[in-house]
Amino acid sequence: MRNPPLLAAALTYVALGWPIVPGAYPAQGQHSRVRTLFNGTVEPAVACCCNQQECWAPAAHPLSPDWPDQYVVTKEVARFWWGGSGGKPTPNIVLCCGETFDVWSVPAAIGTTAFSMLDFAVPVSLTPEPKRWLFVVKPQFSQPTVVRDGLDVVRLNTCHFVPAPPSNRGPAGHDRWLKAPKSSQELPTADMVVAALVYAGEMLAANDPHRRMPRSSHRSPALAAPTGSNWYR
Ligand SMILES: [Zn+2]
Repeated sequence: MRNPPLLAAALTYVALGWPIVPGAYPAQGQHSRVRTLFNGTVEPAVACCCNQQECWAPAAHPLSPDWPDQYVVTKEVARFWWGGSGGKPTPNIVLCCGETFDVWSVPAAIGTTAFSMLDFAVPVSLTPEPKRWLFVVKPQFSQPTVVRDGLDVVRLNTCHFVPAPPSNRGPAGHDRWLKAPKSSQELPTADMVVAALVYAGEMLAANDPHRRMPRSSHRSPALAAPTGSNWYR
């Protein structure tokens, strides 16, 4: 089925040189089950087209397990997937991290403060609700900057992916850009954005007595989360 917003977005990502792949989409008429998150929260779950009962990222992961070898980088292939050919449901869009950009995935409490500090253009997308703020930056090939531990700040790079706006999450809503990328935009360096994230984390911790710990013990590298966590839902 044709989905003009997804096609337009896919063509924009291709024009930017951002690698994308077709993403899973909500299964039709199956939204009744619930899931329990790692923090104990119970919420309605979007039934995913992958039909995995325990799908950890419903409608927010690549369609194919071979996705690292299937980057879509041309308009022709983008039109094939998102142009409505074949009468099948239009897949969501997944951004592939590591080569062209990294993504820093942070909770809303940190993302809000960090974004307010950044007076330069940095693309930021929001997952539905929004649960996660996704900052897109230049790839960082060195050891990532240390960020206060326990704040759920995660760097996503090689072999990781994130859902791209305007992916459809069924009853949960859509992914959306808070600040969309521009055609000629050069991505900011990770250092600039991470500095804002670190500061936002410090402010959050300073206002939360449960997060106050000796400074010598509360820092660790913000490495990519293992498969199965919910760092971009
Ligand atoms: Zn799935």
